[in-house]
Amino acid sequence: MTDTHAPPVARTPGTTAHSEALLARGSAVVPGGVNSPVRAFRAVGGTPRFMASARGPWLTDADGTRYVDLVCSWGPMLLGHTHPDVLEAVRRVAGDGFSFGAPTELEVELAEEVVRRVPAVQMLRLVNSGTEATMSAVRLARGFTGRPAVVKFAGHYHGHVDALLAQAGSGLATFGLPSSPGITGASAADTLVVPYNDEAALRAVFAEHGDRIACLITEAAAGNMGVVPPRPGFARLMRELTAAHGALLVYDEVMTGFRVSPGGWHALEQADAAAPAAPDLFTFGKVLGGGFPVAAFGGRADVMEHLAPLGPVYQAGTLSGNPVAVTAGLTTLRLADAAVYARVDEVAATVSGAVDEAFDAVGLPHVVQRAGSMFSVFLTEGVDGRVDDYGTARTQDEAAFRAFFHAMLDEGVHLPPSAFESWFVSASHGDEAVGQVLAALPVAARAAAEAAEGRAGSAAAAGTPPGEGT
Ligand SMILES: *Cc1c(COP(=O)(O)O)cnc(C)c1O
Repeated sequence: MTDTHAPPVARTPGTTAHSEALLARGSAVVPGGVNSPVRAFRAVGGTPRFMASARGPWLTDADGTRYVDLVCSWGPMLLGHTHPDVLEAVRRVAGDGFSFGAPTELEVELAEEVVRRVPAVQMLRLVNSGTEATMSAVRLARGFTGRPAVVKFAGHYHGHVDALLAQAGSGLATFGLPSSPGITGASAADTLVVPYNDEAALRAVFAEHGDRIACLITEAAAGNMGVVPPRPGFARLMRELTAAHGALLVYDEVMTGFRVSPGGWHALEQADAAAPAAPDLFTFGKVLGGGFPVAAFGGRADVMEHLAPLGPVYQAGTLSGNPVAVTAGLTTLRLADAAVYARVDEVAATVSGAVDEAFDAVGLPHVVQRAGSMFSVFLTEGVDGRVDDYGTARTQDEAAFRAFFHAMLDEGVHLPPSAFESWFVSASHGDEAVGQVLAALPVAARAAAEAAEGRAGSAAAAGTPPGEGT
């Protein structure tokens, strides 16, 4: 018998023959050859690298090329890839059974770990993806309040839930889509979209629709339009307006949860004396599963008690609380101690500082923003040197980003293939990996500056003002 998965030619690091062949083969049976759209590299062009293995901060692709990973599976790999203790725990638990369709002690332990880290979460329910978590939280908020409307912010991404895809970040930002075909007018009509960090707009939506609003859902700190933390006082206003109008406040911490601190963004926020009261509900995912499909929603016990079997709001899942996946998450959280968070913060400070310096050195307008250990660069002047909303995030020079991205890839650094995503580091990013990133940045910043100049030059030659070419 021949092994149809054997590569047709020898692996040659630095080439992309295997990734190209796999993309062609995959595209015949999977739309775009990928199972999540941003992976296809459409925003940056070129061949998405099919990955073969990962360890610590390193990814190795199908052609044998090794990269420093600054995606970390879009956040989950806080400890780095294939941590030996997590691997050992997953192997041991898998040997006891894959899935029971009945409760296990492991699920209780994971729920207790979340409650310990985020005391404002009194009860939670485990699900399989961040999308399911936000979908369920919105249903629960509607069921609890008896109201239909949901307020969200432009550029915030809450998974591909129908009601939450309007002006969403992540892949919709990457591809410049306002929403998606397939979503009915009815489900979109109950979604009210407001610019982020805009106090007047938020007050106005509550003044006009307050008694129809079931919840306001917000990324605790936005990471899906690039990193845009809330402006001082904005979280307080969200809490005051929702409380005053009888609406629930939902912090989507799928990205920030257990990543930016042991208790996520909410815990960082609480360190400030002017911190608002806790939100009513939270959603989690990504780090919670340690690289396996685990997510959760939870919060106030009196709200969570509206869920079946205690209450009338239905929500369920065949594989929810899967023992192997839960073990990966639980082991990851137990290993994520103060030293892990300190290292992740340190690497984020070093790399984000070096990004800033590299673009300063080539004189390209840029804004580097951080939310704890999440960070990203916007190739734009911003407004007053900041990017506070989706409109400003969209003013980026995407052609310059494409050149930057490919130069980094050529230098062995795997970045998010979009200008609208956070970069993620892990506690396993040691001196060699960080050194490889620091060496690549000046080269890639030069490539970005040349792309920006080239475009400005050709636009001038053609008589069009810069920025209106393409
Ligand atoms: C990733 C993400 C989601 C969706 O999670 P999936 O597991 O991809 O469904 C929801 N909200 C936020 C803030 C996210 O970053």
